[in-house]
Amino acid sequence: MHFYQPADPQPCYYCVKISNQEETDYPIREGIFTVEQMIFRCSWHAQFECSRCGKFHHYSWLYWCPKTEELICGSCNKPSMKPVRFWDRTYAYNMFLPFCLISL
Ligand SMILES: [Zn+2]
Ligand SMILES: [Zn+2]
Repeated sequence: MHFYQPADPQPCYYCVKISNQEETDYPIREGIFTVEQMIFRCSWHAQFECSRCGKFHHYSWLYWCPKTEELICGSCNKPSMKPVRFWDRTYAYNMFLPFCLISL
């Protein structure tokens, strides 16, 4: 996934969504990154670096391992899709971490 920067600053899509659904006082940051020129993301919701491969990915493709305290991407450790209600979604990713034996 390649993010373009700068985009015309707009409210971050994810900040607005979180603010509307979870926390009304959640700060709305400027959306300055985009992939498709339709959804604009702030730096918090755009990309994070994988602790394993060092590549940058969209935050939804990364998992926090509480044991190793690493942020691991789905390319380094393939997740499986699980049909559950999660936030405003009908699915979530299930990731088994062989190095810490924790299933997230
Ligand atoms: Zn945001
Ligand atoms: Zn990785």
